[in-house]
Amino acid sequence: MLILNKQIAIVGGGPGGLTLARLLQMNGANVKVFERDINRNARVQGSPLDMHKQSGLKALIRAGLLETFKKHYRVGADRKTIVNENANVLFTTPLIQASNDFNDENFHPEIDRGTLRDLLLQSLEPDTVVWNSQFISMIKQKSGWLLHFGNGKTFYADIVIAADGANSKIRPYITDTKPVYSGITMIEGHVHDAKNTLPNIHALINDGALLAFGNERNLFMGLKSDGDLTFYTSFKATENWYSNAGLDYNNSSEMLNWFRKDYITWSKIWYPLFENAATPFVPRPIYCMPPDHTWKSLPNLTMLGDAAHVMPPSAGEGANMAMLDAVELCDCLSKEGHPDLQTAIAIFEQNMQRRASEMARVSLANGEWMHSPGSLDKMLAMFGAA
Ligand SMILES: Cc1cc2nc3c(=O)[nH]c(=O)nc-3n(C[C@H](O)[C@H](O)[C@H](O)COP(=O)(O)OP(=O)(O)OC[C@H]3O[C@@H](n4cnc5c(N)ncnc54)[C@H](O)[C@@H]3O)c2cc1C
Repeated sequence: MLILNKQIAIVGGGPGGLTLARLLQMNGANVKVFERDINRNARVQGSPLDMHKQSGLKALIRAGLLETFKKHYRVGADRKTIVNENANVLFTTPLIQASNDFNDENFHPEIDRGTLRDLLLQSLEPDTVVWNSQFISMIKQKSGWLLHFGNGKTFYADIVIAADGANSKIRPYITDTKPVYSGITMIEGHVHDAKNTLPNIHALINDGALLAFGNERNLFMGLKSDGDLTFYTSFKATENWYSNAGLDYNNSSEMLNWFRKDYITWSKIWYPLFENAATPFVPRPIYCMPPDHTWKSLPNLTMLGDAAHVMPPSAGEGANMAMLDAVELCDCLSKEGHPDLQTAIAIFEQNMQRRASEMARVSLANGEWMHSPGSLDKMLAMFGAA
């Protein structure tokens, strides 16, 4: 096996990095995950993720975690309700579609990001994750790399895998290509205890996800298992709009004023989202790696997930792709048949590039029409509800 007696460093403990760590450990590899978060509870984890049969769920099955996942996913949370800007319900996924049949291609069970992270963390050998380890730089040493972290520590690894997300600090060691702004900006907000704080909106959500369309703008929201709600405004804007708009993301009433003016045709029913949101709001300009980008494979360094192919969330595929990357990279590194590490990494990267570029194109196209005139009708048609 190519990775026998090799020290592997995965940088980033998101869905991609942790899935890979689990799969590699199942194959007897020496793995450490370096994560910049101070500990597992350091950050509020955002909107829930839906897992797809051919990617996220496939990875969980390979990781031996499907039964644990079944205990923790949010039953019924895959239900989608589509409304217009006045909150008139135009479509709700029939319950039969929101089934719990793991053999059904169209069943996309939802799980809280934090729960998924915990589930993966618990599957790892003790002390696999080294918290409070922000990757800063690395230099070539022997046949591998010496990594430097913000806490002053260093670590030698024979193989480094970048799983450090959209703003990867390792990507520049592999390619000069950078993500390109997609033209869409989102603003993320959180409301605690949505059932009591926002009874009207909570009722609309129907325990699933709510998608609202109007005036070339969108509003998406979903509940987490602790009853908190995460919402996203989503609209076309210039790349630096979020800093040039002069908004104070710590000020709820200022954010409400912005929403009233920018979502001018939208009903007042949405205002309580802003009135009750915990601050700060998080602006998220959405980026995409150029779909056709490739790079020359290296013998001891590769990347996966958002680090390799960040894409807009409009196809709901990013975390699923990251987890499938982990399956395919583990296969390439651990199965017999490849003459050397560089070949194994090259085969993994070519497949990932092909698969991710198709998905990135779909995501970009979805992002475009979802913020164009007629988006509501198109979304309804997609759900067969025109
Ligand atoms: C609004 C929104 C909704 C989305 N909805 C969905 C969905 O429904 N389904 C779906 O599949 N995808 C969805 N996505 C995409 C998904 O969130 C990402 O594609 C996925 O999280 C990528 O996983 P990853 O492991 O590659 O990276 P990440 O999840 O970004 O994890 C990277 C990890 O690396 C750590 N890190 C970063 N820099 C460093 C450093 N220098 N040193 C050490 N550690 C570092 C971070 O703290 C983090 O833990 C959505 C994205 C957004 C923005």
